[in-house]
Amino acid sequence: MSNQSQKALSKEVLSALQSGELENLSAQEILTWGIKNFHPKLSLSCSFGQPEGLVLLDMMNRIEPGARVFVLDTGRLHQATYDLIDRVRDRYDKEIEVLFPDREAVEELVQKNGMNLFYESIEKRKLCCEVRKVRPLNRYLATLDAWVSGLRRDQNVTRTKTRKVEIDGAHGGIVKLNPLADWTREQVLDYVKQHNVPVNRLHQEGYPSVGCAPCTRAIREGESLRAGRWWWENAETKECGIHSVESDGSGI
Ligand code: SF4
Repeated sequence: MSNQSQKALSKEVLSALQSGELENLSAQEILTWGIKNFHPKLSLSCSFGQPEGLVLLDMMNRIEPGARVFVLDTGRLHQATYDLIDRVRDRYDKEIEVLFPDREAVEELVQKNGMNLFYESIEKRKLCCEVRKVRPLNRYLATLDAWVSGLRRDQNVTRTKTRKVEIDGAHGGIVKLNPLADWTREQVLDYVKQHNVPVNRLHQEGYPSVGCAPCTRAIREGESLRAGRWWWENAETKECGIHSVESDGSGI
């Protein structure tokens, strides 16, 4: 990637990224490395709709109880997700940073396009995600040096090249950590069980991945785990734009 969008990184961070050694570290080791180098300008993105984010929250809390976590509240989340946010606040005695979209932008969006624009076309669905997720995220990430996501390579065809640590060219060249990149779904669920991590109750009702209420349905037997997200679209378009990393795949 070009140096143009790259944030100034310390020599130590740059050398770790260039060597590729971080790809061999465990999830906990990646988080420890991230916290050592970036806390408190590092924050975990947790949707509270998938177990991955909560596994990372649990791990980070063990390493640094003051580690930061944020959620994008689009205004269209399930009640189960709001309930889980409060459960996590209590369980970990932790403030969750809740990011809201710009009020005027949402008003304009629905006045021009209606309340349920996402069903009309991929463009309108992406516009809704842009206003309710992407812009609030961009605003927030501009204040950070690094962020953490629960992406795993086998979640979708769009995620197979995810690296454990990469430069996020789409967000000012800050560092993005994907500590669970090489984890399987089974490993995630084992961790949840072993550490009694709170997760979204909709998982028990056939929703392995919970997004906004109008854009998520339960999956049927034999369907992929993300089949219930924007179920009317092809797998190739099933991203909301918050993970559009511009990288050459080398991790730097
Ligand atoms: S997931 Fe659906 S409701 Fe949520 S921001 Fe995207 S289009 Fe809008």
